[in-house]
Amino acid sequence: MLIGVPKEIKNHEYRIGLTPAAVREYVAHGHKVIVEHDGGAAIGFTNEDYEAAGASIVADAKEIFARAEMIIKVKEPQPDECKQLREGQILYTYLHLAPDPQQTKLLAEAGVTAIAYETVTDRAGGLPLLAPMSEVAGRMSIQAGAHNLEKANGGSGTLLGGVPGVEPAKVLIIGGGVVGTQAAKMAVGMGAEVTILDRSLPRLRQLDDIFGSRIKTIYSTVDAIDKFSREADLVIGAVLIPGAAAPKLLTRTHLKNMKPGSVVVDVAIDQGGCFETSKATTHQDPTYVVEDVIHYCVANMPGGVARTSTIALNNATLPFGLALANKGLKALADDPHLLNGLNMHRGKITYKAVHDDLGKQL
Ligand code: NAD
Repeated sequence: MLIGVPKEIKNHEYRIGLTPAAVREYVAHGHKVIVEHDGGAAIGFTNEDYEAAGASIVADAKEIFARAEMIIKVKEPQPDECKQLREGQILYTYLHLAPDPQQTKLLAEAGVTAIAYETVTDRAGGLPLLAPMSEVAGRMSIQAGAHNLEKANGGSGTLLGGVPGVEPAKVLIIGGGVVGTQAAKMAVGMGAEVTILDRSLPRLRQLDDIFGSRIKTIYSTVDAIDKFSREADLVIGAVLIPGAAAPKLLTRTHLKNMKPGSVVVDVAIDQGGCFETSKATTHQDPTYVVEDVIHYCVANMPGGVARTSTIALNNATLPFGLALANKGLKALADDPHLLNGLNMHRGKITYKAVHDDLGKQL
């Protein structure tokens, strides 16, 4: 199969659909790969790296969209890209169609077969192509928190790990899923005092098994949020209720009771945020202050560490992508988890939640 990898054109998006190492795998399976000139240059993957892996470099995206049988990307196609897609072509990327009627309409008009990373499933009921980005955001949330706790950045001037003779900072993590677990690993590693709240007892048991006495696990109630947010130097919002907007768990009243210069990082901002005072920010201007508490609410945190994120994403997308390249659409018939990723086919919405939201608008 001829696989095409265009450069991402969304504002400040530096990730790319395939790494040179992934290209090598496709080529080793007998496929041809064309990559747009300088597609990965911003994150250190040069044209020469791609050529050494067996890809051909082409000058512009138009040629890629025109020739490739499967397009592999990171972000949802922008309107100009949608118009270049066509029936019989496979698009393999993040789509997030439900809140995006314009993109859904354009993909329907194009007739392309679109497989969305975010709805591919695994045997455990997880979302294997979303998990790596949650891992990145979880680990990064502590970095962002530590940075903003520094005095020069507006924070209280507290070091997460303390030093011998000085107590460490207190980190409260609300939601102990993928993001929460990775945040806890970083915070524990830096020597902070960590408390995780979750609504799921099985999850709290798993966390207890992983971390033992290095963290406190607490059942998530209003009472618990009241108590632990008062003491916290850093609060991480990491809850998810699948398919729903995030519940507003930390309110303005909680902020008033927190120490001035404390930091809150709302990773769940891409689902609307789990703090009452959260509004989405960007890597260019990531923070703002409410009630003397610094808010970091970047909606695409993994984009900030685009090189690590690209490699992590490729580790997860590669097996499904290779199956598509090897077998074409038969790969969907052979694997119900990959089939769950199918969102559009020949002008029809094929994913129930997207159809329920947007089916009537087409
Ligand atoms: P997950 O499903 O692995 O974990 C969510 C956890 O929240 C679960 O353990 C669940 O039991 C818990 N939870 C639900 N309601 C709760 C409550 N009231 N109190 C405490 N815990 C509660 O999800 P995840 O992969 O960790 O993702 C968490 C959030 O981070 C999601 O909204 C996701 O979209 C978001 N995210 C954001 C970025 C970004 O760049 N901002 C990147 C990746 C993920």
